[in-house]
Amino acid sequence: MSYSWPEGKRAAFVFSVDVDIESPMLWRMRGQEIRGFGELEQRRYGERVGLKRLLALQAELGIKASYYVPGYEAEQYDWILPTLQGQGHEVGLHGYYHELVNQLSPAENAEVLDKSIAVFEKQLGVTPKGYRSPAWELTQELPEQLKERGVVYDSSLMGYDHPYTVNGLTEIPVQWLLDDAIYFKFSGGGLDKWYPPSPYMVLESWLEEWEAIYETGGLFMLTVHPWVSGKGQRIRMLRRLVEEVQGRSDVWLATAQELAEHHQGSANSFEVSLTPPDTRF
Ligand SMILES: [Zn+2]
Repeated sequence: MSYSWPEGKRAAFVFSVDVDIESPMLWRMRGQEIRGFGELEQRRYGERVGLKRLLALQAELGIKASYYVPGYEAEQYDWILPTLQGQGHEVGLHGYYHELVNQLSPAENAEVLDKSIAVFEKQLGVTPKGYRSPAWELTQELPEQLKERGVVYDSSLMGYDHPYTVNGLTEIPVQWLLDDAIYFKFSGGGLDKWYPPSPYMVLESWLEEWEAIYETGGLFMLTVHPWVSGKGQRIRMLRRLVEEVQGRSDVWLATAQELAEHHQGSANSFEVSLTPPDTRF
């Protein structure tokens, strides 16, 4: 059984952006003094340059994206949320300090959600409908905790390559293959063990995946980060990718929230429950 998209559409494409600036580094270094500015400046480039280049590219191509913003970044750089909303993009939750949810207790995860939602409500006057967990991890409790707070979908898991339902919450899946960080993130200082590949190599891989997803009627969830993909050669590569996708008239270019709304009102029934396997052997 294949996934049913809106009338006349064969596959979907979402341009998603995870606005991780300093927060993942702050979480990693919590409790320690940060004395070096090398990685911090690379990350701050994302706010100063990369994010603006991505916004300009999306305006040029006429597409609305889904942005996931850690609460810390939204408070630190308070132009971000109102600007994204003002330009018609979707904004969703992405932790406060980009915390890894499986390292926190359910009560601590609830606290992070409440603290982050408060920032969105204060700056935008609305509760976000979407959630993407930092580093794409999810606990058994989170779907219920998100629903209790008015969040209608998660976008962190990889169980299908089209929307499905997890513990009663709509899931708009992601995949590592289509994440810029695994190819291009290079912080230096011995943290990364490989050199960043040519954008042509990544474009070739992404176009091959796009052809396969189009053939099977799935979702192409592109995920980029402003400090990683805001570099000139990668912006040029992203333009080529989107232009290729836009060359077909039966592709639904939409936000993750629009996909979630479609999924909830459709007959697509792919439901799974997050239950841990028994490890007492
Ligand atoms: Zn992230």
